Amino acid sequence: MGEFELIRRFFTRPTPKAVVGVGDDCAVLQVAPGMQMAISTDMLVAGRHFFHDVDPRSLGHKALAVNLSDLAACGARPMAFTLALALPEANPAWLQAFSEGLWALADSHGCELVGGDTTQGPLTINITVFGEVPASQPGPTGQPGTQALLRSGARVGDDIYVSGHLGDARLALEERLGHIELPPEVRAAVSRRLDWPTPRIALGLALRAVASAAADISDGLVGDLGHILDQSGVGATINASLAIELIASKSYFTRAEAQFDQYNSEQLMRRCVFSGGDDYELVFTASPHRRSAVLAASAAAATPVTRIGQIERAPGLRLIDANAQPMTNTFASFDHFAN
Ligand code: ADP
Ligand code: MG
Repeated sequence: MGEFELIRRFFTRPTPKAVVGVGDDCAVLQVAPGMQMAISTDMLVAGRHFFHDVDPRSLGHKALAVNLSDLAACGARPMAFTLALALPEANPAWLQAFSEGLWALADSHGCELVGGDTTQGPLTINITVFGEVPASQPGPTGQPGTQALLRSGARVGDDIYVSGHLGDARLALEERLGHIELPPEVRAAVSRRLDWPTPRIALGLALRAVASAAADISDGLVGDLGHILDQSGVGATINASLAIELIASKSYFTRAEAQFDQYNSEQLMRRCVFSGGDDYELVFTASPHRRSAVLAASAAAATPVTRIGQIERAPGLRLIDANAQPMTNTFASFDHFAN
């Protein structure tokens, strides 16, 4: 199977919304009047972001999901994506499963594959997504405004929320790395969270006129909330015990103390919740006046949200326990070049 046969067979489908899709030198997308294009790209490298023997169907899903998650964090509606693939070999069974995982998620968000690049090389997947978001009034100096949710919009006094559950994907990773053992039912549940993340598109759209700032949690709550704080020039206190309640496998931790040799269960649970990446939930801020609007957005998107803290003037992120006592914050987020 040659390069063009591969593209035709696995990655070419009608693109009713795009003006030009796969097959020409460029794809062409129509941006509606008053709308702007939100663009994000994410690369997944074998051995770095996933294990070589990962289920190709889940890999196809996840490669697109992590990109859609960035659109969700901006409150953008997915339109289209491109797929750049480096493959060690053209294995039809692998490509079939990979593309099925990819198409299923793409279809569920009406996101069309409009182009890409295909080359032989160490397995690497790079997807770029294009989403649309409404413009807003130009700023005082005439620069274009946007309704996209940005990291820079958090204000002192805002509430801090997270969507869904945190930490379970990291728990699955700890088990895959051989650090811990999990009972089969827990392993199955947390593995789904690691391999089949759900991009919070509906929530991002519903929060567009409600949240003041947002980010998706790909590298851990502490790190990703930290980006909001840095870019907004503010600090925060979060209630660590409330955040820990969000780990879905919590009941497992409370009954499994004896199983860990490297960590005690409390430490492991905190590490999963605060520095566990790969959850692809949203962390966002909103004015306390918008609490009912946040709940309405959560209900409209059928995605639970939990208020875990407050934005403050003093820079830095502080963690407090259930008795409002300070906890040490030593939770580093993931950094590919940290040493
Ligand atoms: P060019 O040489 O002009 O970059 P290519 O010959 O690499 O174009 O690709 C031919 C067409 O197939 C282009 O429209 C390109 O966008 C598309 N394409 C290549 N690889 C993929 C892929 N993995 N998925 C979807 N479209 C692809
Ligand atoms: Mg090319």
